[in-house]
Amino acid sequence: MQPTTPPAAPREPQRTCVGCRQRGDRSRLLRVVADRSGGPSVLLPDPGARLPGRGAWVHLALACLDLAERRRAFPRALRLPGPLDAGAVREHLQQRGGSPAPEHH
Ligand SMILES: [Zn+2]
Repeated sequence: MQPTTPPAAPREPQRTCVGCRQRGDRSRLLRVVADRSGGPSVLLPDPGARLPGRGAWVHLALACLDLAERRRAFPRALRLPGPLDAGAVREHLQQRGGSPAPEHH
């Protein structure tokens, strides 16, 4: 009897981007949570994926954040009434420099 080898090397957990709806390795996506402590809900980046509560995942790309906002995907994924302020998440993505910022001043 031959030892059974797994069909593929152990993969990273997959997550689905709420923006483009594509799946990808967890390390290529950013977890986003809603912070409701200060009144109106704001979205917070959770790079360590350790904040409590429901999270949504989005690629480390501003294009995917834009898509998610346009589709109102965050309120749906987080089961919250929108709109949610994604400013902090946008800043996080811009600082990472993962994709060119559309506007340049
Ligand atoms: Zn995406």
